[in-house]
Amino acid sequence: MPGARGRYSISERLDPTEEFAGVGPVTGEITVENTGSLLLVRGWLQATVRCSCKRCLSEFDRALDVEVEEEFATESTDRDIETVDRDEPEAAAISHYVLDVSDLVRQQIAVSAPMAPICQSDCRGLCPQCGRNLNEGPCDCGPQLSDSRWEKLRDLFGDVSEIEH
Ligand SMILES: [Zn+2]
Ligand SMILES: [Zn+2]
Repeated sequence: MPGARGRYSISERLDPTEEFAGVGPVTGEITVENTGSLLLVRGWLQATVRCSCKRCLSEFDRALDVEVEEEFATESTDRDIETVDRDEPEAAAISHYVLDVSDLVRQQIAVSAPMAPICQSDCRGLCPQCGRNLNEGPCDCGPQLSDSRWEKLRDLFGDVSEIEH
């Protein structure tokens, strides 16, 4: 029925996906309003997702604060689906229209979750040679090659520049 309005408290568990897994339930509150031709869904969702850092592969949690603002065209009112399916208490029936709240929550969190999560903006990543997490300290390879090692090479082979020419 146009003008019908409902307010819903959200508490949904997220199924883990390839990109992220939910930590605890998604909570929040949404308001659903039927304008006659549109179903307006507005509100806020709070969630914490566990991400895997794209650089160092370590896992970390990120809190998400998601503003929901969606419009759905209302379905034909010919069908009589006015009552909430009792087997699916989270399905909200607003005048001939059933909104799958779980599905809505999943979609909202999926688009808000970081696509290429980085644990911290200055994450040093993994050493490409030994695989060590460089956030935990430098490794012994690459540019960190110590001066004393160069000295030993010089002792053995003379000055490096002479070897190359
Ligand atoms: Zn990282
Ligand atoms: Zn290394």
